[in-house]
Amino acid sequence: MEEQFVAITLHRIAGQLVCGAVILAKQPDRSWWGKCQKCGEEFRLGPDAQFEGQVRAMRN
Ligand SMILES: [Zn+2]
Repeated sequence: MEEQFVAITLHRIAGQLVCGAVILAKQPDRSWWGKCQKCGEEFRLGPDAQFEGQVRAMRN
């Protein structure tokens, strides 16, 4: 059975101002995909060991 991972990050404009929350869902290829809840910009992140460590820390 494959576990379902969901992570929340922030869309930042110019690396500083927070636009909105981005809910990322883990894809079958181990990348992450989601949209900014405010502006709708799409995010896609490749597999990232450091990021996954943060995700695990957020799990219940
Ligand atoms: Zn945004």
